[in-house]
Amino acid sequence: MIIDDQHYDVIIIGTGAGGGTLAQKLAPTGKKILILERGDFMPLEEQNRAEVDIFKKARYRAPERWYDPEGESFSPLMNYAVGGNTKIYGAALLRMRERDFEEVKHQEGISPEWPVKYNDFEPYYTEAEQLYQVHGQVTNDPTEPPHSADYPYPAISHEPCIQKLVDAVAQKGLHPTSLPMGWTRQEDDPTSDSQVYGIDLALKHPNVTLKTGAKAVRLLTNASGTEVKAVEVEINGQSCLIFADIIVLACGAINSAVLLLRSANEKYPTGLANRSDQVGRNLMKHQMTAIVQLDAAPNSGQFPRSVAVNDFYWGDENFSYPMGHIYNTGGLLQDVIFAESPPIFSVLTKAIPQSGLKQLAMRSIGWWAQTETLPDANNRVRVSENKLYLDYTSNNAEAHDRLVYRWLEVLKSIDKQRANVYPRGEVPVQVMANQCGTCRFGEDPNTSVLNSNCRTHDVENLYVVDSSFFPSGSGVMPALTVIANALRVGDHLISILN
Ligand SMILES: Cc1cc2nc3c(=O)[nH]c(=O)nc-3n(C[C@H](O)[C@H](O)[C@H](O)COP(=O)(O)OP(=O)(O)OC[C@H]3O[C@@H](n4cnc5c(N)ncnc54)[C@H](O)[C@@H]3O)c2cc1C
Repeated sequence: MIIDDQHYDVIIIGTGAGGGTLAQKLAPTGKKILILERGDFMPLEEQNRAEVDIFKKARYRAPERWYDPEGESFSPLMNYAVGGNTKIYGAALLRMRERDFEEVKHQEGISPEWPVKYNDFEPYYTEAEQLYQVHGQVTNDPTEPPHSADYPYPAISHEPCIQKLVDAVAQKGLHPTSLPMGWTRQEDDPTSDSQVYGIDLALKHPNVTLKTGAKAVRLLTNASGTEVKAVEVEINGQSCLIFADIIVLACGAINSAVLLLRSANEKYPTGLANRSDQVGRNLMKHQMTAIVQLDAAPNSGQFPRSVAVNDFYWGDENFSYPMGHIYNTGGLLQDVIFAESPPIFSVLTKAIPQSGLKQLAMRSIGWWAQTETLPDANNRVRVSENKLYLDYTSNNAEAHDRLVYRWLEVLKSIDKQRANVYPRGEVPVQVMANQCGTCRFGEDPNTSVLNSNCRTHDVENLYVVDSSFFPSGSGVMPALTVIANALRVGDHLISILN
């Protein structure tokens, strides 16, 4: 085992939305910071941004196998690289709604209250929107929470085919709104990610070091288990011990839980910082259904996402429970719906040559319907015989079905000629895109892993700043909340580092 002679003030493990953002926040403190990332820098290729590649060609699948409860192995859609999953994400950067921070009754159960409220997050949402250059507009969306500042950039304009639909939906009395998007305005690399706005900015400071190809495999504590003393890291096949005062996990919800579970020791036989038995549990991702609408006129097939509809977020006149969030997919030629060849296209893909499919995609408009799932202790990541298992069964199904059919009704009512709309099934377990919840934060150490500063209740110098901390998932996508939280925890860490 190699021993690193350096001693760091802070080690951050992972460079995604949480880790990358925290690194740039802490860098100006001048403290000695080491960032560990198991992946490498991703080459800037056109494919990086083409979702077709992400999903269909398995280009960005992690080079490892995970297991479902039946013991079937699969290759997960995870991007191990500097920037993590933000290198391949859709960059729709939304704030959670004010009520999402409170206890909310859903048809199938309770979405628990957060220990920190919207007002505590608001300044950090604003900071996050500035940092990641979010383009948006505060409109009359009934669910939009209060903003202390406008978005830093104007909303992305709608493609003409989308604008037509937005106008028609608004005429129905609904409130289509602009989808807030992170956008760099740089032709060659337009997506705003946590490499560009996190790691690259952090590395401008001489006190910050990044080691890539460095996979953290275990955390070692002092004899009483009150502090992590060292991180065991695999670098080029060699084991190395690195020491620091503060350790921050930002490996993503699944991998941070795995690291804690694999760090079990005498004091923590079921996993480090796991006295609550909650590490790895309450894994959540959204219920998502894609809807494809055939249009009379062709479109370019390649245009950005730009519109969201939240009128059914908290329910409707027939259903008094939350239903979720609708947004357009962008042009289908670059989108996952087309790439995944879901059931609606599977028959066609056999029957129609590729050029025909392209024509079909250019006459299609895609939508995602997205619903919150509720935390369930049995939905979990577990490690057994060194294999990673995902036990996951979705919930809140009726709310989601109602959202899908409500949106179909809207589309059909707009244009009876274009009533050719097709729902498709849920995104499979391999795609844990919006994963969260495996180390939830809360006041009670018996029922939560982290306190409200995202420090583990059990271990004094151990923090988690990726999407693990979510006690509930809300109906919107998680990245802006992960980023805002990393900025919030960053302020706390600055106060104890100084
Ligand atoms: C295809 C796709 C589209 C998405 N679109 C959106 C969207 O439009 N809007 C949105 O809000 N969210 C979106 N998401 C989700 C979003 O990307 C995540 O919520 C966000 O990246 C989570 O940040 P994180 O810090 O928790 O983890 P990640 O971004 O996953 O970062 C984890 C990092 O840790 C590293 N790592 C893992 N294990 C170790 C280890 N043992 N040692 C060292 N390093 C390690 C990984 O390589 C990675 O760099 C999307 C995700 C995907 C996959």
